Amino acid sequence: MSVDAQQETLQFQTEVQQLLHLMIHSLYSNKEIFLRELISNSSDACDKLRFEALGNEGLYEGDSDARIRVETDTEARTVTISDNGIGMSRDDVVDNIGTIAKSGTRQFFESMTGDQAKDARLIGQFGVGFYSAFIVADKVTLETRRAGLKPGHGVRWVSEGAGEYTLETIERPERGTTITLHLREGQDEFLEEMRLRTIITKFSDHISIPIEMRKDAGEEKDKPAETEYETVNRASALWARAKRDISDDEYKAFYKHIAHDFEDPMTWVHNQVEGRQSYTSLLYIPGRAPFDLLDRDHRHGVKLYVRRVFVMDDAEQLMPPYLRFVRGVIDSDDLPLNISRELLQHNKLIDTMRSASVKKILGLLEGIAKDDPEKYAEFWKQFGIVLKEGPAEDYANREQIAGLLRFASTHTDTDVQNVSLADYIARMKEGQEKIYYITADSFAGAKNSPHLEVFRKKGIEVLLLSDRVDEWLVSHLPEFGSKPLVSVARGELDLGALEDEEDKVETEKVEGEYKELVERMKEVLKEKVQEVRVSHRLTNSPSCLVTGEHDMAVHLQQMLKQAGHEVPKTLPSLEINPDHALIARLKDETDEARFADWSHVLIDQAMLSEGGQLEDPVAYVNRLNDLLLLISK
Ligand code: ADP
Ligand code: MG
Repeated sequence: MSVDAQQETLQFQTEVQQLLHLMIHSLYSNKEIFLRELISNSSDACDKLRFEALGNEGLYEGDSDARIRVETDTEARTVTISDNGIGMSRDDVVDNIGTIAKSGTRQFFESMTGDQAKDARLIGQFGVGFYSAFIVADKVTLETRRAGLKPGHGVRWVSEGAGEYTLETIERPERGTTITLHLREGQDEFLEEMRLRTIITKFSDHISIPIEMRKDAGEEKDKPAETEYETVNRASALWARAKRDISDDEYKAFYKHIAHDFEDPMTWVHNQVEGRQSYTSLLYIPGRAPFDLLDRDHRHGVKLYVRRVFVMDDAEQLMPPYLRFVRGVIDSDDLPLNISRELLQHNKLIDTMRSASVKKILGLLEGIAKDDPEKYAEFWKQFGIVLKEGPAEDYANREQIAGLLRFASTHTDTDVQNVSLADYIARMKEGQEKIYYITADSFAGAKNSPHLEVFRKKGIEVLLLSDRVDEWLVSHLPEFGSKPLVSVARGELDLGALEDEEDKVETEKVEGEYKELVERMKEVLKEKVQEVRVSHRLTNSPSCLVTGEHDMAVHLQQMLKQAGHEVPKTLPSLEINPDHALIARLKDETDEARFADWSHVLIDQAMLSEGGQLEDPVAYVNRLNDLLLLISK
């Protein structure tokens, strides 16, 4: 006898214990979800078997009709969910049921809010659905055998949901999994078959595997040998049905199943294509962003089917990363069933389905933006930050994606991102050729930047960009609607036709007057700046820093430095405001040491208002204090 045959007691991973505790206490008002979760696992298990059996008929063991059964036992006060899917080996059970394999566990606990509805959603997202059994059960028995293993390799797993579980090897003739829930005190409602049927129709009607329950439950209790079953769900792949036969509620229920979401989707698009290539796509935009949206490795949400047979989850080839929030299925009639992830990468059929699906989603978003701006605003709030990766990633659709982008701008001066590039262009001043923007590492930094002063004075709108991805975005979006996008903090300011003749004459005059000062400052600051010049963009601030046309923005250089990256050394230019009293005074400063102090203070201040950090903050403070003392004397 091997050790395996004996009963063995194992500890849950600590996280599982915490999770169980949280689940039982926070999901109490949603308790019927346990049935959906367990049925969903059974359905996945049947899909997996069907897929594996493609290459190995033997796995069916002579029974290829997938089914899921739900039964109750009033006397024993149990509910049993069983399936003839792939089943689990002993190792599978330990790995899948005793641990949370997914890496996001810590994030999960950090994301818990204490708000039941929100936390319930999270639980689904993390794929910890199995444990929901403990919401209604104080003891769960799971018996299983992996398809293809001998009957002697069955496994029984039992737990009361506290800290541990027991495992033992059992004889199990039939493959698949049987889960028995010993109901907690007060949960007898789940012994009523009508109640269970209602829950199944509500949550699991669209599952493509038949879910069976006893016929005439209650009457034939004493004749179990003759028990007959009937299918209680519709059991056909929802996406394969004609669109007109599918109700919104069915679409929504299906979404919740595949997206592991407890809330309704925002919208969806169902597309059945026939012709040279036949496929169906049913794609959803969730109502809310998942906690790990910003993680580019986050699992993609589109499942691949081939002629109704599930092939793979998270098929990243089906959706580009900037649309990673999309959930749904794509079912091809033409792909071979045994397609592997590697093959997906260079497959013409996949490429066609992918670009058509991307088009569908972009079209769907355009429709919302046009017809329901409020809904679009909500979409933008949830997913805009990811869509901003689009122009860099998807060159072919760049213009279309750019049309979907929304920004904050000086038009409203709030941090709400609701200005489209088309709005901006429509509001351009007469003679304005460019779309102006500023990037900063915070909204306040962008909004209050000295670079905006002349734009505010002239009433020219500037987009205020302060998301991390923005710098990346604008570097891949040189123009929109044939108007170039231009940073107001880069290069020499050229307002073109926006500048009137008078301005120009005045500028030349001032530049002459300040020539000497500029030369002196440049001499003092030569280690720190490329150039010093008289500014045309400042009205209130004494100075600002300007990056070269092709150099990295100052705040971005700082961000990279802080993250420990090598940043190529490029010097900014310092612009000074001739209308500022400090600058005017500096012109007459004859004490060279004091002149140097002023010059350094001015460049450091410009750096600070850029949101930057000083290389030598103490030197700055000392200089400033010396100067303050002079004034107060
Ligand atoms: P998820 O379904 O998101 O993976 P669950 O907690 O619901 O998370 O299930 C954990 C894992 O346990 C599943 O991924 C699967 O490997 C295994 N499992 C659960 N139920 C079954 C079942 N009925 N048949 C086979 N494997 C199962
Ligand atoms: Mg599950």
